[in-house]
Amino acid sequence: MSDLTPLADLGEFGLIRRLQHAITLTQPSTILGIGDDAAILAPPAGQEVVVTTDLLVEGVHFDLSFSPLKHLGFKSIAVNVSDVAAMFATPTQVVVGLSLPPRFTVEAVEELYAGMRAACEAYGVDLVGGDTTSSRTGLVISVTALGQVAAGQAVRRSGGKPTDILCVSGDLGGAYLGLQVLEREKQAFLADPDTQPELENYDYVVQRQLKPEARLDIVHELRELGVHPTTMIDISDGLASEVLHLCAASGTGARVFSEYLPMANPTLEAAAEFNLDPITAALNGGEDYELLFTIPVADHAKIKNHPDITVIGHLTEQNDAVNLITKSGQAVPLRAQGFNHF
Ligand code: ADP
Ligand code: MG
Repeated sequence: MSDLTPLADLGEFGLIRRLQHAITLTQPSTILGIGDDAAILAPPAGQEVVVTTDLLVEGVHFDLSFSPLKHLGFKSIAVNVSDVAAMFATPTQVVVGLSLPPRFTVEAVEELYAGMRAACEAYGVDLVGGDTTSSRTGLVISVTALGQVAAGQAVRRSGGKPTDILCVSGDLGGAYLGLQVLEREKQAFLADPDTQPELENYDYVVQRQLKPEARLDIVHELRELGVHPTTMIDISDGLASEVLHLCAASGTGARVFSEYLPMANPTLEAAAEFNLDPITAALNGGEDYELLFTIPVADHAKIKNHPDITVIGHLTEQNDAVNLITKSGQAVPLRAQGFNHF
């Protein structure tokens, strides 16, 4: 332990210099990164800029007793990139605000940044600045992401029309089951610190919780297929809540078919073990960071063979309400019971 460096040894400026050292810039629109009072960016003509922020607060959004700092760094960038992707835009830069508890060491911050750099590299974004302060409570990470999209081409929540097809990328419910596994192992550890966590059989769901991916790949593929979604949103709070957001913004109803909800086998197995209804995990679990979007019926043929896009229902007239259609054909009103941090 003795070779760990207290933050006070380096000071704020020393720390920033250390972090800046490993950062490389690749975006043509980045003119100047870390080191001045502000970064300088030059989006190409004809592009609009999208901006989004997500705050991650220790004890509210993450638990350092089971979140490795590298994964947390990756996730803090990925969740912002996910919001940019959900506008159908290409992420370009991020800035990172950090509030660091005094117990943090330089090495801990470097771990966090190693994860952030890995995510920046994975999604092709430049880390161009930020702010660093001490915290009297827990760790706070505030990331702001910028992205570019051809003028007028950003996809809002409000463009849905009755009969549009409702699609989702990847599979659902995994991140929620991952959290259940991690919480259970934490309780076991607190009860008996000699127990070793049993996580091997839960790799998939634990990864879904600790290291979600932003589905920028889906945005690129839709563009290649010539599909321009009418609405799009990323699934941070659970499918039910996001469907309701799209319908509210678009002034439509929707029918979501429970049999069509994509779920991975490890998620189904974990749900069975925890006695949880997998449909409920998919609808209300949250943090999967998949994309939910609608396309015109006429585009159905373009996506129907895509291995990672599933049609789960369609929009309807507003007065038909937002319903889950069960396997037996019953219509049950969808309710938002997603994560509520308040
Ligand atoms: P100021 O006093 O103008 O806020 P700072 O000393 O906070 O300047 O920051 C100096 C430079 O380091 C700026 O370019 C800023 O964007 C960058 N910076 C500060 N904190 C971070 C951080 N946590 N991550 C990345 N860049 C940072
Ligand atoms: Mg500052």
